[in-house]
Amino acid sequence: MRDADTSAGTAVDDAIARAAELVAGSSYLIAFTGAGVSAESGIPTFRGQGGIWGSYDESHLELGFFRREPAIAWKTIKQIFYTFTLSVEPNDAHRVLARWEAAGRLRLVVTQNIDGLHRRAGSRNVAEFHGSCDELVCMRCGGRVPAAAGLLDSLPPRCECGGLLKPGFVFFGEGIPADAYETAFSAAAMADACLVIGSTGTVYPAASIPRAVKRAGGRVVEINPEPSEFTDEVSDVLIRLPAAEAMRRLEAAVDAI
Ligand SMILES: [Zn+2]
Repeated sequence: MRDADTSAGTAVDDAIARAAELVAGSSYLIAFTGAGVSAESGIPTFRGQGGIWGSYDESHLELGFFRREPAIAWKTIKQIFYTFTLSVEPNDAHRVLARWEAAGRLRLVVTQNIDGLHRRAGSRNVAEFHGSCDELVCMRCGGRVPAAAGLLDSLPPRCECGGLLKPGFVFFGEGIPADAYETAFSAAAMADACLVIGSTGTVYPAASIPRAVKRAGGRVVEINPEPSEFTDEVSDVLIRLPAAEAMRRLEAAVDAI
């Protein structure tokens, strides 16, 4: 056991050193994040063991049901995405990315998460590929309203125009927001390095982004506790750690170069 532990530790040290070289040497670095980046903030995953859909009816996140039964759908949505999500804090993985952006080291975060934690940590250039729960969108006039306290006291929430307000994240079967899509894929075409953090690479079209970086000649650093769909296909380096610990150690290693 002791030998195995030591060699795993060495593998992680080597991966961090190689990743730090790639990050420090890059001139157009982007990050691509998934559920794993928010796990240490306490945001549960939606699928798999302990996933949220074990306890809720996921049809409540289908547009057809939402239109027919907005009050029922909103009751579920409020419990899952608002009462809880708005109370959690960003972790060090979000914070390191925000510091790197402020320092000019990171150009863009593309995230699959809808929890808004990258912006709350201070990142400004964020392409929210599946939208965000921080805003509500009016289904009649298209207006956007911040998800402020009080707005969800009586359900369903209504816009000033009387239209039904929907969460600003993408429902099952809905398209990707056009601006986030454009921003993400144009950055992927220009990036010479991409950090993949906490994404298993199974949800499309989001999972095409690291692959687009790789196709355009960029390098990919993956941070995941377990190997993923990206590992053999596109990753140049895999750091097998949870996101916050990996990013703390990577930041220290980059600073030491
Ligand atoms: Zn409206």
